[in-house]
Amino acid sequence: MKEVKSPKRPLLYYYCIVLLIIFLFNLLVTPLLTQNHVVNVDYGTFMDMIDEGDIGIVQVEDTQIIFTNKDDTQIYETAPMEDPSLTERLHNCGAKFDRVIEEPTSPILSFLLTFVLPILIFVGLGQYMSKKMMEQAGGKNSMSFGLGKSNAKVYVQSTKGIRFADVAGEDEAKESLQEIVDYLHDPSKYTEAGATMPKGILLVGPPGTGKTMLAKAVAGESNVPFFSISGSEFVEMFVGMGASKVRDLFKQAKEKAPCIVFIDEIDAIGQKRNSGSGYGGNDEREQTLNQLLTEMDGFEENTGVIILAATNRPESLDPALTRPGRFDRRVPVELPDLQGREAILKVHAKKIRPAEDVDFHTIARMAAGASGAELANIINEAALRAVRNGRTIVTQSDLEESIEVVIAGYQKKNAVLSDQEKKVVAYHEIGHALVAAKQTNSAPVQKITIIPRTSGALGYTMQVETGDKFLMSKEEIENKIATYTGGRAAEEVVFGSVTTGASNDIEQATKLARAMITRYGMSEEFDMVAMETVQNQYLGGDTSLACAPDTQRDIDRKVVELVKKQHGKAIKILQDNRSKLDELAGFLYEKETITGDEFMDILTGGDKQ
Ligand code: ADP
Repeated sequence: MKEVKSPKRPLLYYYCIVLLIIFLFNLLVTPLLTQNHVVNVDYGTFMDMIDEGDIGIVQVEDTQIIFTNKDDTQIYETAPMEDPSLTERLHNCGAKFDRVIEEPTSPILSFLLTFVLPILIFVGLGQYMSKKMMEQAGGKNSMSFGLGKSNAKVYVQSTKGIRFADVAGEDEAKESLQEIVDYLHDPSKYTEAGATMPKGILLVGPPGTGKTMLAKAVAGESNVPFFSISGSEFVEMFVGMGASKVRDLFKQAKEKAPCIVFIDEIDAIGQKRNSGSGYGGNDEREQTLNQLLTEMDGFEENTGVIILAATNRPESLDPALTRPGRFDRRVPVELPDLQGREAILKVHAKKIRPAEDVDFHTIARMAAGASGAELANIINEAALRAVRNGRTIVTQSDLEESIEVVIAGYQKKNAVLSDQEKKVVAYHEIGHALVAAKQTNSAPVQKITIIPRTSGALGYTMQVETGDKFLMSKEEIENKIATYTGGRAAEEVVFGSVTTGASNDIEQATKLARAMITRYGMSEEFDMVAMETVQNQYLGGDTSLACAPDTQRDIDRKVVELVKKQHGKAIKILQDNRSKLDELAGFLYEKETITGDEFMDILTGGDKQ
């Protein structure tokens, strides 16, 4: 449960506003300070005005003559000329000799008004804005811009905190963490027995599996304060600031002991340090990590400060972090199994009003491989869909549709496929389904649709695993590859041509075929030799090659051979079932979405082949 912070506006934004205010201020105030606008005229005009008696007040100086018209509505200025009779003529025309322009405002006052005041406004507003921003960032007491203080937030979770019961599934993880709860409730039991609690516990697993929830649940169950900070928050722009945040965090934690300190994404600071490379390393991160290690070593065992950390890249952590006395206990938090998925769906369904006939077991089966966060999202999407349709009750079809939304993106209602394209997509999808259904070991089809998705997929076949599978036989993988090639095979069989629609299938089929050879030891040629190793098992499972270039070439050849063989098998299946292929594709083309039952009805009924 991440906290949503209100977006912070950059300081520059505020300074722009202040500059604008000053600009407007000058625009308004300056004209007030300067006198009425003076019109410069030549001496001839001045003479004419005297002759016409149109002079009000006049002020004759050595370098200029300033005067007004009769009504005193305008001030004029002209250069003086050698004119001895001027005074007399002016007198005759009724001009008054006086000061036309008042003493200009005191220079000090005008300096104050035009320079000092705007600067004071500028600085004052700047100070006010930055204070506001700091308050927003939650660092009221921190030094300017939170320098040197950690942003660790204190969650004092007493009665309404998250409990283990809120975390569905994950029984093994909960069991390992229960001991911590027990210890925090009664530390003396452990000290008397001479047992020491591990200082740090590493929660390891893919994103969205409930690691943060579990950490909060430990604090909730033990009724102790919960400090939470993300590893990435430690990584600061200036060297040394991350380290000072660590120091501050542990200082606060020790004051509040017993308590739980939770560091999310610890890999952001805990990555392996670059040995050897003297330059170019990330000094800031290393200093932060060193500080963390020092702090962990520094406090006594059984002080009551338990550090929980979460990561989805355990292999990238510095060994110094995982050695005994630091994060020496590792708790795996895996993707939920079928039972776990159903339990998570049910936990989140408490927030919505499901219809009587909603079957969470089926939904859980359909959402194979989904994480807890994705399952929570599925429930929420279903509720949103119900509201969109003017209902408050969530139905089974809302849930089924939202699985597709979460997995494949929204339906793209206005995407217009040409008639021919729609036909190709229908054959393509039926191709997959038919090849899958005709191979005994393939999972049955749940639903096929050719309504385009925002993710870019034009069609979509949802397969349902009948139960959780931990092992796959060689034949099952081969069948899966054949199923992937089934879409393209249908295009070839029916249209004699191919389209770009199979790119994702090709990628998946190749990945599987390659894994069979390089990782699963399923080829005679390479036997049980590991040619590739998995790097990030929780994040997509990138692999790295570990073999000679010649071997790589042989592997590539073998992969092509394997995929080709299955592709051939798919073509054969479709050719042998051509009439069913046409019938099913025609039906899908008409209806756009068909269920697995409808598919099986057509496949098994009618003209048996
Ligand atoms: P992680 O820290 O592993 O990335 P989180 O703990 O932040 O995952 O989980 C994200 C959200 O997913 C949670 O807020 C919760 O709604 C949901 N969730 C994940 N796992 C579970 C679970 N086992 N039971 C109930 N909800 C879960």
